[in-house]
Amino acid sequence: MTTAVTVFGTSVARGDTAKFRAAVAEMNDGTPVTVPVMVVAGRRDGPVVLLSGAIHGDEYNGPATIHRLLREITPDMLRGTLVGIPIMSPFSFFCRSRSNDLDYEHLNLNRIWPGDPDGFLSQRAAHVIHEHAIRRSDVILDFHEGGIAFMARYVALGGVPGTKTAVREAELRMARHFGQGVPIVDKTIDEKAARLGRLGMLSAAGAAMDVPVLTIETGGAGTLWPDFVELATTGARRILVGLDMLDGPPPVDDREQVIVRDGRWIRPQRGGFLRNLPGMDLGAKVKAGTPMGRIEDAFGDTVDELRAPFDCIILDTRHIATVYPGDWTFSCGRL
Ligand SMILES: [Zn+2]
Repeated sequence: MTTAVTVFGTSVARGDTAKFRAAVAEMNDGTPVTVPVMVVAGRRDGPVVLLSGAIHGDEYNGPATIHRLLREITPDMLRGTLVGIPIMSPFSFFCRSRSNDLDYEHLNLNRIWPGDPDGFLSQRAAHVIHEHAIRRSDVILDFHEGGIAFMARYVALGGVPGTKTAVREAELRMARHFGQGVPIVDKTIDEKAARLGRLGMLSAAGAAMDVPVLTIETGGAGTLWPDFVELATTGARRILVGLDMLDGPPPVDDREQVIVRDGRWIRPQRGGFLRNLPGMDLGAKVKAGTPMGRIEDAFGDTVDELRAPFDCIILDTRHIATVYPGDWTFSCGRL
């Protein structure tokens, strides 16, 4: 058994906790840029689990979930190590933005893993985090949500083509252990998604190292939601029980978890104001052809109607009221 774990060069003895800042980059005026790192080094040996939050800087329920988990789980309870980085992308967090507006290319941190030591600011920071935290993890729980514009409620497997069967199975097991009736998205990244950079997601960096990654999408709209933090905290604790890192009742329940293998964002043909119709809420099951929302133009006249493209379950809803043609409105998982 090891007596200590090392995270970003800081040694934490088994049975201890630590909170510190790790330097990942510097600004144009020389100000150091750091990420907050929280470690719970279990008294007993076990896997290293990375809890990753705010890869997108407008997503706040993940950080709140990580804070709560690492407050509640003590080294005496734990077999293995929890490493929490509640704010993975300080640049986009500064700007309350999805991407890093300071980079020339306005990079989205969840499209550029594993980073690049010779690249732009975000790529350099990603490389440091990858080397010190991601590469040293056995399992990754990556907390996301809808961000400012959307609300979300589902968990997603990595979906990277060529992922080893054992890794996929481990991801599915974690999704099942998360439970609580939350839908599971098991979509493979296709060529269209790859061109939008999805092979640079953290789940892809995990798949490249045979590390299972579960993406947890709960909450959004720029708000902290106690219910969503509760949901994600409960789900994560159940996953840790499933990994045999915590004691607890077996993480099973009989609430149905729909598995979605295909889906689509409904996109308006016209710009204007989006009106979500009553009942079109997260988790609602909708029959093909059902009206879900409408677009009103600058005069208040209805110019487009959004209908369910197939029998589906709603995975995301939009919370910014105006849309351009082609914007995302509802994310529908095919049933
Ligand atoms: Zn995100």
